[in-house]
Amino acid sequence: MSPFRSINPWNGEVLQEFSPTNPKAIEQALTLAEQCFGTWRELPFAEKSRLFHLLALRLRDQKEELAQLISVEVGKVITESRAEIEKCAWVCEFYAEKATSFLVPEEILLPDSKRAQVIFQPLGIILGVMPWNFPFWQVFRFAAPTLMAGNVGLLKHASNVPQCALAIQRLFEEAGFPPACFQSLLIAGSHVAALLEDPRVKGVSLTGSEKAGASVAAAAGKNLKKSLLELGGSDPFIVLADADLPLAASTAVKARMLNFGQSCIAAKRFIIEEAVYDAFVDLFLQELKKLKPGNPLDEHASYACMARPDLAAELYQQVCETVALGARVLTGGMAPETGSARFEPTVLENIPKGSPAYSEELFGPVASLFKVASAKEAIALANATEYGLGASIWTADLSRGAELATYLESGAVFINSLVASHPMLPFGGIKKSGYGRELSRQGILEFVNQKTIYLG
Ligand code: NAP
Repeated sequence: MSPFRSINPWNGEVLQEFSPTNPKAIEQALTLAEQCFGTWRELPFAEKSRLFHLLALRLRDQKEELAQLISVEVGKVITESRAEIEKCAWVCEFYAEKATSFLVPEEILLPDSKRAQVIFQPLGIILGVMPWNFPFWQVFRFAAPTLMAGNVGLLKHASNVPQCALAIQRLFEEAGFPPACFQSLLIAGSHVAALLEDPRVKGVSLTGSEKAGASVAAAAGKNLKKSLLELGGSDPFIVLADADLPLAASTAVKARMLNFGQSCIAAKRFIIEEAVYDAFVDLFLQELKKLKPGNPLDEHASYACMARPDLAAELYQQVCETVALGARVLTGGMAPETGSARFEPTVLENIPKGSPAYSEELFGPVASLFKVASAKEAIALANATEYGLGASIWTADLSRGAELATYLESGAVFINSLVASHPMLPFGGIKKSGYGRELSRQGILEFVNQKTIYLG
């Protein structure tokens, strides 16, 4: 198998190469993880919590070097990389503090004056298959609840972030977690099915594309293992005629451009009531112009480049197909240089049904604008996608916004805000955006045995 290469997408420099984890080392990792589970599950919550607090400290102590690592490995601007590390520390502390109350046994009083209890027990080794776009956050939001519940973790990270994968394992070790409580394997996606065949692996959490999700869910299903899928999205951002337009437009640009558009919950389709369409588009373009490109390590850069040249080429292809079908380019639209991950922020309007910008996920800095006659039409268009991750509605009338939210086919609706993940809020999608929930109490209940004990 070819080595895992860490490449700076900004300049193509090969930073490091790593040999894949060989079959013997994979077997050893499984054996050690299984052994570790036996003791880790028995450790009191207070001790697990102490370790997660230490892990949060280490993340904060090493924030600068970890942030730089993210920036050079995926091209994320340094200010966003720092924020990502902070958020990881936050989720560690959140579950360190909340896991005990989230997993308190539930008492059920039965009609015949009998009682039952539901207790929450860990399952064992849980595999995390994770993407490169938030190479720390995606892993920590999986690891913190999973381990606090008493499971142990194995990570198969995206092939282009081997340095982040190894740094995460090191952080767990340095914080004092038992060896093998959280291990990174450098393996290809094609090896995941074999891991799911192994009886020691009890479940899998995947964040990634629909294609990877379907493949991993099939392997989990074949082996009757629990799976959780966090997949793609084509989130609508609905602007109604009574919205605060300047705020909506500046937030819209942030919602599309965060992580240079490479976020599952980025707003991708902007659906605007015709009464305010022109005004909103003007403001949106003005806000977009304020962003400054630059090196990922430049303190003042608002964006740098995509995470890999092939992703830029694929996105450009989607833009070209959409334009060929009749869309108009308001700004951007230039072809990226061959082999380059740099991409010009692009805004499209008049997007025809059946084009990629209408029905596919555009995972990068391309905004698709749609004009609609009414809120009803906005909801219908918002739902006209196979995805259902997040959605945002902008209106001065909060109760109307909340009512409209009930008609949106998505895992979350944010009114007068961009869609964001927060440790206290359940996170996940419906339709082809996946199933299951991360974060909040729901997140920690995904990989536990909810055991009923009847007291006769
Ligand atoms: P990806 O290509 O699906 O990769 C995600 C992970 O799955 C990587 O570790 C990848 O490994 C692995 N993988 C790929 N094919 C696989 C297979 N057949 N079997 C097992 N594992 C496989 O996705 P990506 O390009 O890294 O990430 C972008 C996608 O993730 C977007 O669609 C985005 O919306 C989605 N995403 C969703 C969320 C969410 O919370 N819903 C969050 C972030 C991203 P290799 O790198 O080795 O191929």
